Amino acid sequence: MSVLAPSHPLGAPAGRLRVAILGCTGSIGTQALDVCRQHADRLEVVALTAHARTAELVAAAREFGVARVGVTDPAHAHDAALADLPEHTTCLIGPDAAVELACAEDVDCVLVAIVGAAGLAASAAVLETDKRLALANKESLVVGGDLLMPRVRPGQLIPVDSEHAAIFQCYQGESAAQAHAIWLTCSGGPFFGRTREELSRVTPAEALAHPTWNMGAKITIDSATLMNKGLERIEAMHLFGVDMEFIRIVIQRQSKIHSMVEYDDGSVIAHLGASDMRIPIQYAFSYPDRWSTPAPRVDFRTLGSLDFAAPDAETFRCLALAEQAGRTRGTLPCVMNAANEVAVSAFLAGACSFTDIDAIVERCMDAHTVEPVQSLEQLADVDAWARRTAEHMLAAR
Ligand code: NAD
Ligand code: MG
Repeated sequence: MSVLAPSHPLGAPAGRLRVAILGCTGSIGTQALDVCRQHADRLEVVALTAHARTAELVAAAREFGVARVGVTDPAHAHDAALADLPEHTTCLIGPDAAVELACAEDVDCVLVAIVGAAGLAASAAVLETDKRLALANKESLVVGGDLLMPRVRPGQLIPVDSEHAAIFQCYQGESAAQAHAIWLTCSGGPFFGRTREELSRVTPAEALAHPTWNMGAKITIDSATLMNKGLERIEAMHLFGVDMEFIRIVIQRQSKIHSMVEYDDGSVIAHLGASDMRIPIQYAFSYPDRWSTPAPRVDFRTLGSLDFAAPDAETFRCLALAEQAGRTRGTLPCVMNAANEVAVSAFLAGACSFTDIDAIVERCMDAHTVEPVQSLEQLADVDAWARRTAEHMLAAR
């Protein structure tokens, strides 16, 4: 099963689309709220979750008059800010709040904008319903793609990750069987062209300064190591039902071509636009329609050049590790992802160097005995093992 079966979107009511935003305080979450603000006549926000930052959650709940909110980190259950929730708003606490809110009867579409493998349970739960899944959380598919994709109903999953939204659109109206290759574009990140030795000395502040996108901290570091592109290649493999070789990564420095699909006759269909996540977020809500946007537009008269280059998987080792994980499949991508989450946190906390990230990920992958993916419980155990192993390796350095 891929997301390409022709169909009408699931969760398309006659009235406003009732949206739940999981991870509403993050980069994707706040941009999604902006889309909902712009299109209040078409979108109704009915449920919101946040892991922390409860003051921002409460502000959004008040602005949108939301019926239910969730605080997924119990450590924030007693935050003073929660006293300001509107009287009619119910508040659920704990990791299960995201799943419970997502599956509520009055929700048509769930945007999973949680970061990391923590998003998997909610993505899986939405696929048990007939609601639309607007999926930003790429880790859900990297870790659990083998479980999730067979559950996707036609028109149910609309990718939000900009490259995958682009590829999805490049496939519209075409026969997927006549596609020859997917060109997955990559900005190259802030350290494009650097040597391994130079990379070993970069600081978190330098790595957090992405040249073309403004995103959450974890994905920004992933974009600097290029693990983000490795994760995205595995994400595309699952979404479009192709193997890793079918997906070619190409550096496109300006982030204006969001990805391309090449067909058997040599024609290449590309998706271009501004580097603004509100566009793919909105498309996941509006699909198959297109609505107006306040996002900037590309003026091709002043754009200048579009540059392309081959990726360097020897310097940016995460690309090679993700290729290995995506080819091997089974539980290896889960281990890669969990070890990466731990190593990225350690790097951000100043506890390891930039090049330690891929070193830790590689050692965890090497230490793992791969199994076929069987269940969410199994993946949770493998994830926990990989986190413990990565923490132990970091501590033993
Ligand atoms: P972010 O760190 O800015 O926000 C993450 C959100 O998830 C926050 O609302 C936070 O409260 C919540 N959260 C954090 N840990 C959680 C947990 N354990 N359980 C439940 N909720 C938790 O992240 P982001 O940049 O918005 O990215 C979100 C997802 O979207 C990621 O999977 C990322 O790869 C993907 N994505 C982001 C962008 C982007 O431009 N930011 C682009 C493409 C894809
Ligand atoms: Mg992306």
